[in-house]
Amino acid sequence: MTGRVAGKTALVSGAATGIGQSIAARLAAEGAQVAVADIDETRGAEVVKAIREADGDALFVSLDVTEETAWRAAIDVVESEFGGLDILVNNAGIAIVESVDKMSFEDWRAVMAVNIDGVFLGTKHAVPAMRRAGGGSIINISSILGLTGLEKLSAYCASKGAVRLFTKAVALECGRDGSGIRVNSIHPGYIHTAMMEDTCRRDYGDIAKGLAELGKLHPIGRVGEPEEIAAGVLYLASDESKFITGSELAIDGGYTAV
Ligand code: NAP
Repeated sequence: MTGRVAGKTALVSGAATGIGQSIAARLAAEGAQVAVADIDETRGAEVVKAIREADGDALFVSLDVTEETAWRAAIDVVESEFGGLDILVNNAGIAIVESVDKMSFEDWRAVMAVNIDGVFLGTKHAVPAMRRAGGGSIINISSILGLTGLEKLSAYCASKGAVRLFTKAVALECGRDGSGIRVNSIHPGYIHTAMMEDTCRRDYGDIAKGLAELGKLHPIGRVGEPEEIAAGVLYLASDESKFITGSELAIDGGYTAV
């Protein structure tokens, strides 16, 4: 298969829906073999089916990103089925909305477990696999809320800010050790997914109204689409970005330029 990531192999976490689904589909359309990794086996299998129907190569891997044993097993499967790991997209993420004084410690820990522990575990186990493959690209999906704060999202903002600097620290390690592994973060603005529809219903009582109101927060005047994040991931995953590591790519319609 030809394409911008032809011959490469990828694992995308949280790929059963939303941004992760788009990323998996785009990488596969551009020639990568893709492991669709998620806790939701039913939706994950549907994503794999759609990729195969479009002549792409994909398999489903059951992965709870908070479980180290699950990461070991997932990367083993990718290496044995695809022959190595070249691209890791740490995309799985959750948000819990609550003011800091009312947030339970359990909820705080739950957000941290998925959003930053999961990124750490994925990176920890991908790096040796990528060394075996002779290099690779790790792309961590942070958020505009890893660059700027928002009320009632302290845990989410803290976790996504941590992703940003974790990315830079690991980029330095991997840049200087000659492994050929690059590590970058992407910071999406509001993107139209199930996660965002929850926000629209909660804060505006209606999806269409929420999309319109949240769109106004972006100088470009609308919310983003999952495919617009997938396009950035594709660039960072491909050799076109081979001089880019430790960088943060805001794909946010200008939200953080204000
Ligand atoms: P989404 O629609 O909620 O999809 C996230 C996927 O991750 C779901 O399939 C979810 O499964 C899965 N997941 C949740 N916990 C997991 C775990 N422990 N292990 C493995 N998979 C897990 O989210 P999205 O909107 O596509 O967001 C994707 C990423 O972009 C997240 O990191 C998010 O923080 C970030 N982001 C999103 C926006 C936005 O506006 N949408 C903006 C900035 C950044 P279940 O559905 O079964 O829970």
